[in-house]
Amino acid sequence: MSDADRNRGADASAEADPEFLFELRTCRWAEREWPPGSDTDGDSNSRPAIVARQLGTGRRRWDTIVVEVNPDAFGQRANFGPRRLDSDLLDVIPHAPADWQYYRDALPNPGYPWRYVRESIHRADDRGILDVRKRNNRIQIRRKWAYPDWVERIVAVENKPDLDASAARNLSQQLEYDVALALADEVWVATRATGESVEPALLESVPVEAGILTVDADSRSAAVEWFPRSLDADAPGTRILERGDSGGEYGSAAARFEYADPEWKADKRLEIAERAYEKGWRSFAETMRPDCRHFQLRREGRTLLPYCGAKGCHQTSSECSGSCPEFSPEPPQWRTNGWPIEGGPGKGIRKLLEKRRERNRPG
Ligand code: SF4
Repeated sequence: MSDADRNRGADASAEADPEFLFELRTCRWAEREWPPGSDTDGDSNSRPAIVARQLGTGRRRWDTIVVEVNPDAFGQRANFGPRRLDSDLLDVIPHAPADWQYYRDALPNPGYPWRYVRESIHRADDRGILDVRKRNNRIQIRRKWAYPDWVERIVAVENKPDLDASAARNLSQQLEYDVALALADEVWVATRATGESVEPALLESVPVEAGILTVDADSRSAAVEWFPRSLDADAPGTRILERGDSGGEYGSAAARFEYADPEWKADKRLEIAERAYEKGWRSFAETMRPDCRHFQLRREGRTLLPYCGAKGCHQTSSECSGSCPEFSPEPPQWRTNGWPIEGGPGKGIRKLLEKRRERNRPG
């Protein structure tokens, strides 16, 4: 491939997914500075938080998630290990009794067959996070540790580096969905700082309940343009299924809504928090190809961003895959001869990102 082709590829990839790098920068900023605006009111470090990306529900995935945590309870969460508790385990672990008890007496009715609960119990036993024994042919359980109430608030951030009028219009429907459902306690839009004040017209397109944050890649700082309203995550929510059509005298299609009960919301919030706990935001290496000889991590301040030596640019997560025409596996000798980290640079990059995630966990 000629340099010209490479440069064309670089330009194209920068245009194809400019949100990816912006998203990583937003995550890094949130990890360091959360909550927004804290330095203006002397409130810094008052809300320890973990940050993750690309999480949500089947219907709605948020770009950046900030889970504000209770530091003491968060420390106790570590007893259960770095892996998430999935929804099935969350039907068991938080309800496990302090003393031995038959599992069906101890746990709330799951609403699905008990045999699946038994599977979860055995999984928890294998992970060493639940005491399990058999007495009179009955499975009894006992907790190892009380599952702590570690999640304080969940904040969703949509990243739109180029928030022009049409992007704001498209985004507004997603934000209206978030506001109506109120699964998160707060919703924000993060956009690239341009040095100009945000157009009032853009503010009008975005629901008034959503906050607006401008992120400056150069100074690695962010400014609040508009503070969000707190949403009532404990109250019933409304799922907007269809928005309807107001065309014609009586409208041509009705809007459809669905009720989301508080129990469903509480379960979903804990599932999202658990996934954020496991995943963090540096897990991008898991879906990219750090085992490609061209894969690099380039430093931007204290942030390590993926960079492709072959394309000469920050590659997107979607193009950095096994189907990339320039993918070239790292030579076997990199993995065996003299490379300081066992397994070669690709494995080393994954380990490095994993270590950073551990180091940046609050608590
Ligand atoms: S697979 Fe290799 S060549 Fe392709 S984008 Fe990723 S690092 Fe670059």
